[in-house]
Amino acid sequence: MDKSHEISVQDQIPLYLPGNDSGKDTCTWSSSPEPDQKIDIGKQIFCNRSLNMKNIVAVGFDMDYTLAQYKPETFETLAYQGTIKKLVSDLGYPKELLKWSFDWKYMVRGLVLDKKRGNILKMDRHKYVKVAYHGFNELSKVDKVGTYGNTLVRNSFDEPNYALIDTLFSLAEAYLFAQLVDFKDNHPGEIPEHVDYARMYKDVRAAVDMCHRDGTLKQMVAKDPKRYINEDPSIVPILQMLRASGRAVFLVTNSFWDYTNIVMNFLCGYPMVDGRTIFGWLQYFDVVITGSPCSAKPSFFHEENRANLFEVEPETGMLINTDNGSPMPQVGDIMARLLPEDKGVHKIFQGGSVGHLHKLLSVASSSQVLYVGDHIYGDILRSKKVLGWRTMLVVPELEKEVKLLWESRNTRKELQFLRSERDRIEDEIHRLKWSLKSKNPNDYVDPKISSELDELELERDKVRSSHQDAQRKLHQRFHKVWGQLMKTGYQNSRFAHQVERFACLYTSQVSNLGLCSPDKYYRTSEDFMPHEFNIVAYELRDMEM
Ligand code: IMP
Ligand code: MG
Repeated sequence: MDKSHEISVQDQIPLYLPGNDSGKDTCTWSSSPEPDQKIDIGKQIFCNRSLNMKNIVAVGFDMDYTLAQYKPETFETLAYQGTIKKLVSDLGYPKELLKWSFDWKYMVRGLVLDKKRGNILKMDRHKYVKVAYHGFNELSKVDKVGTYGNTLVRNSFDEPNYALIDTLFSLAEAYLFAQLVDFKDNHPGEIPEHVDYARMYKDVRAAVDMCHRDGTLKQMVAKDPKRYINEDPSIVPILQMLRASGRAVFLVTNSFWDYTNIVMNFLCGYPMVDGRTIFGWLQYFDVVITGSPCSAKPSFFHEENRANLFEVEPETGMLINTDNGSPMPQVGDIMARLLPEDKGVHKIFQGGSVGHLHKLLSVASSSQVLYVGDHIYGDILRSKKVLGWRTMLVVPELEKEVKLLWESRNTRKELQFLRSERDRIEDEIHRLKWSLKSKNPNDYVDPKISSELDELELERDKVRSSHQDAQRKLHQRFHKVWGQLMKTGYQNSRFAHQVERFACLYTSQVSNLGLCSPDKYYRTSEDFMPHEFNIVAYELRDMEM
C-alpha cells in the first residue's frame, strides 16, 4: 500500500508552498505533538476555525448523506427514474423521457443552475463564472462573458432565478434539467412553447420533491437499505467513544421517524428480523429529533421558531404532547409495549426548534455544541452563523479530491511557475510599451525595443497557452467537465469559499472522527495574505539553495 500520503494525526497543516519541493515523495507538514499514528490524507479532518473538543459538551449528527452515505449509482438513479415517471404521468411531459438514462457522475456539488437561460455554471469565490454550459453544450468565452461578465449580475446568483446544487440529493435534478434543456432545443414543438426553461426546472423540482415525500424513494430504501446505503461499521464505535468521553450525542434530521428508524438501525447493525420493528440504535443517542412537515432545518435553527415539539412513540410513530420537551403525563404505560432491550433509552422527538434541544441537552452556551452535517445551507450556515454552534461539514468528494491533489503536486508546481513566467513577461511588455508611449514624437526610439517587444509577445502567448492547456488538463483529472471541486481556474471555487466560511471543520466522512481523540484540539494553519505568502515562499526557496 502506498503510504506516502499519510501524515501524523495532528498534522493537519500542509506546509506546501511554491518552490518548496525537496523532491521527496512525502508531504512536509507542521510538527506533531501527538504519537506517531498515521492518517491517510483523504481521511484527515481539516480545520478552518480552531476548535478545542474539550469545550464541546454535545455532538450532534445529521442523518442523510452524513451518517448515511447513499450510493448515488442506485439511490440517485432511483430518484432520477421516479422523477421522470412523475414528469410524464403527472405533468404531461413526452413519453420519450422514459427512455433516458442518468449519468450519476456528471453533475457535482457547488454548481449553480440558471433557470431562465437553461445554463449550468461553476463560479469562483468572487462569483465570477468560469465554466458555463447550456444544457450539455459549453458556452463560448464570448457568450459566457457577455451573459455573466456584468458585475451587477454577478452579485446575485441566488433564488429565485438561480438554484444551488449544494446537496448530493440535487445531482439527479440538475442532470435532468440539462437533459430537458437539450431536448427542448433539439426537438422543437415536443415541449409546448409556454413551458420555458424556468418552468421545466420548476416541474423537475416539484417532481423530485414529490418523490421524497410520497414514499417513492423511501419505500424502496426501506425494503433493501443495503442496496442504497453504504454500510459503515465505524459509526457505532464513534458514537460510543463520544458518549464514553462524557459528551451527549444527538441526532437532528429532516427525515421522519419511521424512515430514520430504518436507516439508523441499518447503520448501527440492527437488521430487521421477520419484519419486527426494533430500536437498537437508540442506545447510542441521548436525544433524537426527527423532521416534521412544519419544522425542518434550517428553520429548526431559528430560536424564535415556534414549532411545537412532540415526543414520538417509537413503536407506532404516534406523537405525544410535551411541555417544552418534558413529557406531559400520559394515560397508559407506553414503556410496557416496548421490548426489554429497547427500554429506558428513548428521547425521540419530532419538530420543535433549537431552543428545545438546548434545554433537553442542558447546554449552557451554543458554542459547546458541535454539529456534523452535509448541507452547507441546511445544516451548517445557519447553525454556525446565527446560533454560534461549532460545525463540521462532511464532504465525501474530498477523499478523491485530496488524493488527486497529492498525485498532481508536481503539475501544480509547474503551473505556478508558468503563471509567474506569464506575469513576468507581461509586466515587461507593459513596461516597454509604456516607455515608448511616454516618449515625445521627436525622441530617439531604439529599434531593438520593438523587436524585443515582438519576441516578448510571442513568448507570452506561448506561456499563456501552455498554462491554459496544463490547467485544463489538471482540472480534467478531477472531473472531465467541472474540474476540481474546490477550485475554479486557480482560485477557490464558490463551494470551497462557503466551506471555508461556514464549516469550522470539514472532512470526507463521519468515520474520520474515530481516528482522532475525542479531546483533540483542532487548530487552523497560519493565514497567509498575498504579501506574506510571497515572503514565506521566497524564504523557503532560499533555504533550499
Ligand atoms: P437530513 O439530511 O438527515 O436532514 O434529511 C434529509 C431529508 O430530506 C431526507 O429525508 C430526504 O429524503 C429529504 N429530502 C431531500 N431532498 C428533498 C426534497 O427535494 N424534497 C423533500 N424532501 C427532501
Ligand atoms: Mg443531510
